[in-house]
Amino acid sequence: MVDLDGVGMTSKRTRERLIQRLKDNGITDQKVINVMRATPRHLFLDEALSHRAYEDTALPISYGQTISQPYIVALMTQLLLSHGPLKKVLEIGTGSGYQAAILSQLVDEVYTVERIKPLLIRAKERFRRLELDNITSAHNDGGVGWPEHAPYDGIISTAAPEGVPEDLLYQLAPDGVLVIPVGSENHQELRLINRVGDSQNYEEEVVERVRFVPLLSGVTR
Ligand code: SAH
Repeated sequence: MVDLDGVGMTSKRTRERLIQRLKDNGITDQKVINVMRATPRHLFLDEALSHRAYEDTALPISYGQTISQPYIVALMTQLLLSHGPLKKVLEIGTGSGYQAAILSQLVDEVYTVERIKPLLIRAKERFRRLELDNITSAHNDGGVGWPEHAPYDGIISTAAPEGVPEDLLYQLAPDGVLVIPVGSENHQELRLINRVGDSQNYEEEVVERVRFVPLLSGVTR
């Protein structure tokens, strides 16, 4: 990733405070911490909100969507990597592109799908600018995964379906890991699902309660 972090935009101290908070809240994977520290979150926000980029909070990115809270991005990334290093990862819900940018520095290849076209266009510009050239993206309904590039060592969904979509399970490689928020608008929980070997058995763990935008079907122009 190229370093586009302009002087004065955000002080080192503000960013370091966020990193300390992630550590205090249980983010222990040093690789994840290093990448969170190195990635300029303010470049994934509209200018009017970029001064809040290093607060540990979700923020609007227009079209009714949000960039996830840094803690949640770090947690989901840590969970995804908890079974060992990954080569190929699929993300559902590109949004601002921030989560994909984090992943791209930790795995070989990232595939990401977004159903709202203008969001995807902006995210792609950011990937280009930051020279994150191992990210492949598409304007598509990710509720059915992205079968053309399957199987994936890891799949991460940043939008919440009511139940785990079977297509995502079927696109996991042996021992693959799925990190996904599941539930209704009022009650969602983050789940860590692990395919057992090359079987169709899956171990499932509920991590904690979360709040994500819903996974919707279809695409918008
Ligand atoms: N990972 C994003 C978070 C964006 S919020 C980031 O780091 O900024 C979740 C995103 O999922 C939204 O942009 C929403 O439009 C998208 N989404 C919802 N349902 C989807 C679907 N079925 N397929 C692809 N994207 C979807």
